[in-house]
Amino acid sequence: MTKIMTINSGSSSLKFKLYEMPEEKVICSGNAERIGLPDGIFTIKYGDKKDVTYPAIPNHSVAAKLLLDSLVEKGIISSFDEIKATGHRIVQGGKYFSKSVLFDADSEAKIESLIPLAPLHNAAHLTCYRAFKEVLPNTPAVAVFDTAYHQTMEPQDYLFPIPYELSQKYDIRRYGAHGTSHNYLALEGLKYLEGVEHPKIISCHIGSGASITAIKDGKCVATSMGLTPLGGIMMGTRTGDMDPSVFNYVCTVTGKSPEEVYQMFNKKSGFLGVSQISNDSRDVLEAVEKGVETAILANDLFNRRIADFIGQYFVRLGGADLIIFSAGIGENEPRTRQAVSDLLSEALGVKINKELNAGLRGKEALISTKDSRIKVAVIPTDEEVMIARDAYEICIK
Ligand code: AMP
Repeated sequence: MTKIMTINSGSSSLKFKLYEMPEEKVICSGNAERIGLPDGIFTIKYGDKKDVTYPAIPNHSVAAKLLLDSLVEKGIISSFDEIKATGHRIVQGGKYFSKSVLFDADSEAKIESLIPLAPLHNAAHLTCYRAFKEVLPNTPAVAVFDTAYHQTMEPQDYLFPIPYELSQKYDIRRYGAHGTSHNYLALEGLKYLEGVEHPKIISCHIGSGASITAIKDGKCVATSMGLTPLGGIMMGTRTGDMDPSVFNYVCTVTGKSPEEVYQMFNKKSGFLGVSQISNDSRDVLEAVEKGVETAILANDLFNRRIADFIGQYFVRLGGADLIIFSAGIGENEPRTRQAVSDLLSEALGVKINKELNAGLRGKEALISTKDSRIKVAVIPTDEEVMIARDAYEICIK
């Protein structure tokens, strides 16, 4: 039995899970939030207990120490040495990483060089990795990339039609995101496809960030997110794909700078921008029920973009055996799953069981009817277990 810690860090947060491997048993999990602010929040769950405290967490080093100290204090581990490896989620692996790797000077330098492609994420991940290294100097650490799973795409799927020398010189291409989640879903989805020789899966990771991936024989052939997580389908606050000239036109008519408009497309668009109500689909759908026009528009736009991408990937794959809904909205929102399935029914013969779907939240189930031409499943995603598996594989096995 080996203890492995998975770490998913943001600029002001640090989520963790401690696993017993290879059993994949979660021993404890938690979150340090509001790092850098005077009033931090530290939550740890273990057994049937949940402790919440409000210490000042000035930086990620303090968060790492706080977390490890509390594991010892609560008797979850007897010393730091019990943790045999850490696995860190890294959003952007660029062209360098098609699989998870051990953190060393070279991989650290490459992740650092990719900061311009994911300014908020990669910088925070490195800060967090270094914080753990300070507290656990002899524990091996593994970097698990959100982009790695998408590296199997062909140039026709990842290149943008801009001057080729630009793509070459600046590594401008579709990198995708949520790869660890899509990889997990592709593996889990196989249980519904026994006897299918070359499984074709369309996985829909639909949360506040959202992406759709076309998977053939377990490999990504196309994915909706682009150079950065702004591309693809519409999201909570992000536009997703649109005519690139909108960017220039908005700068011109509003007098805002490119950076301001870029921020607007990232943080003030999507559900929030169109509905003018909220970035959270729950709030928007509540307003839909009340007949609020902007909410209806935002919701219709959202569902249609998802259905459009599924249609595109149906063609790209030459058919589909399974559509998977996952992440915050995909797992918990029956209305979105029903609306998307309805949009797919005429062309693709997708049919789901209305009653089963309506009652399903946060649980796995096959929701398609027997006569549906494509199976449809809800599968809760688990990026952490994939990180733990890779850390175990690389450092221990
Ligand atoms: P994620 O980014 O995967 O955590 O998903 C977050 C989004 O999922 C939220 O903004 C909500 O729109 C949606 N969501 C989360 N929980 C629920 C729920 N219980 N019911 C409906 N929607 C939910």
